[in-house]
Amino acid sequence: MKLSARAKSIGASPTLALDAKTKALISEGVDVISFGVGEPDFDTPDHIKEAAIVAIDAGFTKYTPASGIPELKEAICAKFKEDNDLEYKPSQILVSCGAKHSIYNAVQVLCDEGDEVLIPAPYWVSYPEMVNLAGGRPVILSTTIDKGFKVTAEDIERHVTPKTSLLILNTPSNPTGAIYTKEELEAIAEVCVKHNIAVISDEIYEKLVYEGEHVSFASIGPEVKDITITVNGVSKAYAMTGWRIGYAAGPEDVIKAMSNLQSHSTSNATSISQKAALEALTGPQEPLYAMRIEFKKRRDYMVSRLNEMPGFQCLTPPGAFYVYPDVSEIIGKTLSGKRVTNDDVLAEILLEDARIAVVPGSAFGTSGNLRFSYATSMEKIEEGLNRLAQVLETLA
Ligand code: PMP
Ligand code: GLU
Repeated sequence: MKLSARAKSIGASPTLALDAKTKALISEGVDVISFGVGEPDFDTPDHIKEAAIVAIDAGFTKYTPASGIPELKEAICAKFKEDNDLEYKPSQILVSCGAKHSIYNAVQVLCDEGDEVLIPAPYWVSYPEMVNLAGGRPVILSTTIDKGFKVTAEDIERHVTPKTSLLILNTPSNPTGAIYTKEELEAIAEVCVKHNIAVISDEIYEKLVYEGEHVSFASIGPEVKDITITVNGVSKAYAMTGWRIGYAAGPEDVIKAMSNLQSHSTSNATSISQKAALEALTGPQEPLYAMRIEFKKRRDYMVSRLNEMPGFQCLTPPGAFYVYPDVSEIIGKTLSGKRVTNDDVLAEILLEDARIAVVPGSAFGTSGNLRFSYATSMEKIEEGLNRLAQVLETLA
């Protein structure tokens, strides 16, 4: 069968592919510790599971409105009001099959053929592919570790052309855990408003903040809210990655267009999962607080251990559950007797010889980095880092 040019242009999500490979190795009996995929290791809280069971028993198993059930959209509006001081009406909310799908829908309706889309790097793996699939051109804005891996308003201004239509912002960031301050967002917003650049603000890690505070981009002011699609979801905060519920908020016409698009692709997010997400947002938040305390402990341990490893330099990320060390000193050397030509090769050596799975920086548009997810137990983190230290003894 002839594949479309579009199909030929994309590969699998590198994070999901690594996760599949790691899980396959583990199921073959290979003892691999995964710092790979970004997925909470905690179970979905019982009260959320219970809401889904109640939904099934009540026969809530049919199509829903494409944009989501009214009570969940109301709860999302209440969440925006309470957490971000943002007023949205239910007609400004779209519930999708994960935040990924909300972002996909937003890119499809905001990006025309040939449009330039600004993406700060390191970026989450799927942003450039989504832009390519919409016929747009990703314009990658690089950042540096000494600036905390954040772009500035000047960086954005320098890359604006008459074709720039969109900026994809992610705070807290995957893969660096960086958080933009209110002042930084205000400066970025000024440039976007001036040039009429729409913004997709991916805030999926909003609840996983250990220092500082999360500022929602749209909350900077009414003009900013008018150019912003805010994306969030329940995957990370409530350990619900498999339930596939994310959402978007923004101007009514854009949300309507996204809903129309979704109505021709997935129809609606799963009815049962929508009820579970409603419980996640409106029910007890204690499991989230407990998870956050545990993540912070793991982060602190991981950062201090990684910074002791030869060739590793990493920041203490204030949010999300990733550490993104600079390992460029290791590139060009040998490890386990093998030449480390780039971070892909380094990640392969670590998988083969240390039996730890990490994602190479190349997946996020940088070189000389590795991403470690600490969404795994403290015990495994300790053991995995011991393995890493052991292999690094062979660094020459
Ligand atoms: N945005 C970022 C930055 C992410 O890391 C992820 C990964 N899960 C998503 C969006 C998508 O999340 P979801 O599971 O809700 O699709
Ligand atoms: N966002 C997670 C990660 O970066 C899950 C994988 C994915 O959706 O790509 O690992």
